[in-house]
Amino acid sequence: MTTHKLFIDGEYRAAKSGKTFDKISPSTGKKIADVHEALTEDVNDAVEAAAAALEGPWGKMPKGERCDLLMKLADAIDARKAEFMEAEVQDTGHTRGFAEKVEIPRGAANFRIFAEMLKNTGGEYFHMDTHDGTGAANLELHRPKGVIGVISPWNAPFLLMTWKVGPALACGNTVVVKPSEESPATATLLGEVMNEVGIPKGVYNVIHGFGPASAGELLTQHPKVNGITFTGETRTGEAIMKQAAVGLRDVSFELGGKNPAIVFADADMDKAIEVTMRSCFANTGQVCLGTERIYVERPVFDEFVSRLKAGAEGLKQGGPDTDGATIGPLISAEHREKVLSYYKKAADLGATIVTGGGVPDFPEGDYRNGGFFVEPTIWTGLPEDSPIVQEEIFGPCCHIQPFDTEEEVIAMANDTNYGLSATILTENLGRAHRVGGKMEVGLVWVNSWFLRDLRTAFGGSKSSGIGREGGVHSLEFYTERTNLCLKL
Ligand code: NAD
Repeated sequence: MTTHKLFIDGEYRAAKSGKTFDKISPSTGKKIADVHEALTEDVNDAVEAAAAALEGPWGKMPKGERCDLLMKLADAIDARKAEFMEAEVQDTGHTRGFAEKVEIPRGAANFRIFAEMLKNTGGEYFHMDTHDGTGAANLELHRPKGVIGVISPWNAPFLLMTWKVGPALACGNTVVVKPSEESPATATLLGEVMNEVGIPKGVYNVIHGFGPASAGELLTQHPKVNGITFTGETRTGEAIMKQAAVGLRDVSFELGGKNPAIVFADADMDKAIEVTMRSCFANTGQVCLGTERIYVERPVFDEFVSRLKAGAEGLKQGGPDTDGATIGPLISAEHREKVLSYYKKAADLGATIVTGGGVPDFPEGDYRNGGFFVEPTIWTGLPEDSPIVQEEIFGPCCHIQPFDTEEEVIAMANDTNYGLSATILTENLGRAHRVGGKMEVGLVWVNSWFLRDLRTAFGGSKSSGIGREGGVHSLEFYTERTNLCLKL
């Protein structure tokens, strides 16, 4: 049985709390690991190690050398890709294709891109006239913020955790990472690689545990944590914001979504189906950017619904060890219960169930009966104020609504508390630009989905987040800026 210890000050350590919890495989429902739970003393050790590392070789290291080390780290992740992939798919039940093509390479890229960026980014300079005629020079200086608490979710664990750790370290901070209790493996493994390439001890620390009354809450309340970057549910963001209010610590939040896709009648229908199949069902619908509301212009509504239905019914259920599987399980029994409660609610509210709506029927003795599988599900016929259309379900499901005019669809797409992303499918680029500019979201894709250039600003508006990360935008959160005014 695998055991995941804490990684503190460059060493794997048993939790002083003496507590462990079980990690269950989403594909089989069986226990696959014991995980050490960090409580007060352990969290304190991790934060103290991170604070001490700021004063050690890491804090004194020139920026260029620090960035070179992070480049080496990215290469070392690539060299151990198979190990990271295995750890990730066993924890999450993801298909190997998603882990191999997206999750693990993006993990390495998250270090590479921010190391390159930091090496090549300067600050503002403003010359200023003065009464005595000599002038003054204003120089923007950047300092690391300090100890950054990184709280990450389970839906793309390595990608999302490194998306925070990459810029945090490139900017010279140290981190204490609290990965999701559902996905402890890759964050733990990364500790070995940090040591292998010579990242000084205490720079990267990992504590395991839960949120409330456990490692997550203890970390975000710790007075020596200088900033908190969090990806997860909106409700959890609200709790963390309260915890971060003590001592007025800065936060960066990437939260939930209820993202619309808008399909105009002039869209290339093959492309629209290909894009929407991915945005609804990739990673079993457990993607913050995923589509759960689809609006289709009335003349192509029936064609779209029947083609998406055929696509959903063609998906093959299976865990990472099933050849040719195209859709995996949900992460946990608890999450499956939540998704199934929405499946039931949709039926109770009178939705037309185009396909799915329950648990797949596997043969007796099939390992998948122990896993947390649900059917890919499509509904139509519900009003816009229905909870199915308003609340984030985070499963392989969507509701499809017809529309008649641009104004009507803009209003429907924006009528939600969330504001993360939107997808527009049309061959009319003028319309794409016009409608895209009216979406109350942080990210709009036209004729694509999840196409990410890591230099661009990433984040959500309304209840989907606070702040933007990515490229130079990450400097806003991961550094403190000082304006140095030099009288000439
Ligand atoms: P979650 O909010 O339940 O948990 C996320 C992390 O927060 C976990 O590590 C958890 O242990 C920790 N946590 C929970 N309560 C806490 C507390 N009170 N204090 C400190 N830490 C606490 O989210 P999840 O279920 O792991 O992930 C799914 C959610 O994440 C979805 O809502 C999804 O939309 C969102 N998400 C957003 C983005 C984005 O970029 N906007 C990306 C991925 C996922």
